[in-house]
Order: sequence, then structure tokens, then C-alpha cells
Amino acid sequence: MSNIIILGAQWGDEGKGKVVDRFAECFDIVARYQGGHNAGHTVYIGERKFILKHIPSGILRPGKVAVIGNGMVVEPLALVEEVDGLTRAGIDVRARLAISNRAHVILPYHRVVERLSEARPGRVAIGTTSRGIGPAYEDKVARRGIRMADFVEPDSLRSLWESAVADKTVLAKAFGIGDEVAPADSLERCLAVAECLRPMVRDTAQLLCHAARDGKRIILEGAQGTMLDIDHGTYPFVTSSSATAGGASTGTGLPPTRIQGVIGVAKAYITRVGGGPFPSEADGKGADRIRNEGKEFGSVTGRPRRCGWFDVPLLRYTAMVNGFDSLVITKLDVLDQFDEVPVCVGYRSGGVDIDTMPASLDGLERIEPVWENLPGWRSHTHGLDRYDDLPARARDYLRFLEERTGVEIGCISTGPERDQTILRSGSRLVALLE
Ligand code: GDP
Repeated sequence: MSNIIILGAQWGDEGKGKVVDRFAECFDIVARYQGGHNAGHTVYIGERKFILKHIPSGILRPGKVAVIGNGMVVEPLALVEEVDGLTRAGIDVRARLAISNRAHVILPYHRVVERLSEARPGRVAIGTTSRGIGPAYEDKVARRGIRMADFVEPDSLRSLWESAVADKTVLAKAFGIGDEVAPADSLERCLAVAECLRPMVRDTAQLLCHAARDGKRIILEGAQGTMLDIDHGTYPFVTSSSATAGGASTGTGLPPTRIQGVIGVAKAYITRVGGGPFPSEADGKGADRIRNEGKEFGSVTGRPRRCGWFDVPLLRYTAMVNGFDSLVITKLDVLDQFDEVPVCVGYRSGGVDIDTMPASLDGLERIEPVWENLPGWRSHTHGLDRYDDLPARARDYLRFLEERTGVEIGCISTGPERDQTILRSGSRLVALLE
């Protein structure tokens, strides 16, 4: 009766949406534990493409319950649009979605605050999606946020709103920003949206703990990836929440003693969005080729992603802080036509080998990657669903990653569709799914 965490082992966009959707078959509930509506998952079912922003991809499986955990921040207007879009596609979202009453809400003034803070001279440009997610988390930590429980109570919302808008107006004036922090009709719109969401808002920690007690099986799904975690990532080029396995308990209320396994999802190469250190970034031509073959453009923003080669020391680090039981390697098929596949196998700094992840930006930027080139397999793996059908060199590549990272590869994804997946019998991963 395992409950598991599935999370990104790199900088996000590893294909977690597809993996969670594929594994959700064996579970009853999928709960997301952090992040906001910047972390889009793309899931293909047959000809249909779904982009999920807040809602865990478990919603696409009939009968499964999807939970928006307390660790997330919710943009209510965007969430209602997402619910309506899925409903129009024939998915009974309202009956199966539970939104934590402790999740914080992103309001129009958060976007204004984000714009003014990013534009300030001398500020490090983090490359956020400017959706107000960071400022909503700032308000949460500063104990002045608005939570779902209050958002759906009109009197509470009105009074909290007034004091928040007064605060933000003072800030905007201090920074010489002329923008109105909340357009005139925005409170009324929020009150209307709150009506739509109210029936889905509940104590999701209790829902999850009772479900676990009753033998139901739960996936806790992370957004972004470990290297974007607020504590363990490449600070300050990180997100505002805890994307690592530790965040799964605080972000849902399901205690660590109820979680039996942690699965890391990594691409067969690596990408990152926005600024910040990237030791195994490929040079122009290599990066362009990976980007085109892998369609590496943001699913919500359309931004081209920076592309590079598999980074072993980074994966060893993310395995350490998350305690991965098993890895899912996605997008193996993207490398099908490369003559050679470089892998970053070590880090040096000032000519000396290092075996820790530097904490400072300066230290991260001084990393000199150590490369090994592996032969490409130059044949199709796209859509394969049996390990033995993979070309020998693709299997060698996977074995190499397994040996160097010290983590088993329990599953390989060979295409965006559910059935384009290889599960390795006898693996710890398969035991956790059973
Ligand atoms: P997520 O946020 O981690 O779910 O990742 P994204 O949705 O941003 O990016 C993953 C993209 O890769 C989506 O368009 C998926 O449909 C696609 N994808 C997932 N797994 C595979 C795979 O094994 N091969 C290929 N070619 N595409 C994949």
C-alpha cells in the first residue's frame, strides 16, 4: 500500500505530467504540493492535448481524485478557467477536485508587485513568469496572505482585501509606480469566482490522511524541479517554494511516515528556463538541435528553454537531497539521431575535482564540467515499450547513467503518450506501483 512522491530531478519540465498521468492508473488520489500556475504540464491522450496549470494530471483519469495542496498558491481566475476548460472537454472536474482551504491566493496586486520588484535597478533578474507567484509566497511567509478559507467567505475577503490593497498602494507609491494595484472591478470579480470555487474548497490534509488510513493510494506530485527548490536549488535563481521531497509533507499535510517512496523524473538530457548557472549547457549548435528535436519551449510561456547534456553530479546531488528510490528517464527518443551523446560526469573548480554542489552563485558559475562522450544509437526508440527492444547503445547509455548516478532507472519514457513507456520488471519502482 505505497504512497509515493514524484518530482523533478533537474530544473523542471522533465515530463512529470506524463509520468504522473501514466502511474495514476495504480493510485486513487494525486495531490500537488507546491508552486502556482506557472508550472504547466502537457499531457497527450490520443489526439488531445491538455495543458494543466494548477490541477494535477490525475484529473485526466476517470474516478481519480485530484488535490491542490496547501503548499500551492492559487490564482482563482486562472483556476476557474482551467476547471471550465477541462469540463468543456468532458472531464468531470468539479466532482473530483479538492482545493486546500489553507492554500494561499494570488491576487491582482501580486502581479503589480512582481513587476515593480523585477524592474528595480540593481535587482538580479530571476526570469520569473511575472504571474504574481513569488509575491504571493512572500505574503504567506510574512503572515499577511489570504488563504482559500477566507477567500471564499465574502466578508473575510472584503476586509482582508482592503487592508492588503492599502498596504500595496503604500509600496507602489514609495517606488514611484503609477499603476493601480487592483483595478476597480477586481474585488467584485474575485467574489464571483470565489462562489464558483467554494464547493471544492476543503481540508485536504484531513482528506489525504483519512484516505491513507483507509488504504487508498496517493501520489504527491511536485512542480518545477529540485534545482529550483527555494533551499536546495541554485539560489537566487529558484522558485519560491519547496520542490524537493521534504516539501511534499509540508505542502499537503500527509506526514512523512505515510510516504513509502520517492521517484525522481529526469530527461535523458537537461534543460533550464531563465537565468542562472547551468554547468552542462550545450554550445549553440548542440543546444539548438536538442531544442528542436525535444520541442523545448515552455508549455505556458512559449519561451525557448536552455538545453544541455545529462549532468551526473547534479543528479547525484538531487538524489541525495530527495532520497530517490528510482528514476524515470524521459525523452530518450529525442537523442535518437545523435552520433555522440556527451555526458557531464564530474565537476572541477580551479582545476580541482569537487564532490559537493557549491552553494554560492560564484561557486556555481566557476564549475568546469568534466565530459565523457558516449556513442549515439542512431536508431528509433520512439514509442518503444519493452526494454529489450531498445538498441544496445541506448541500453548502454542508460546503464552508464544508472552506474554513475547510483540510482536505478525503473522506467523510461520514449514518447509523450501514456503507452510510450518502458517499466523495468524487478525494479524498486515497479514494486512501489504494485
Ligand atoms: P512537466 O512540467 O515536467 O510535465 O514537463 P512539460 O510538460 O513542460 O514538458 C514535457 C513535454 O515533453 C510535454 O510536451 C510532453 O508531452 C513531452 N514528453 C514527455 N515525455 C516525453 C518523451 O518521452 N518523449 C517525447 N518526445 N516527449 C515527451
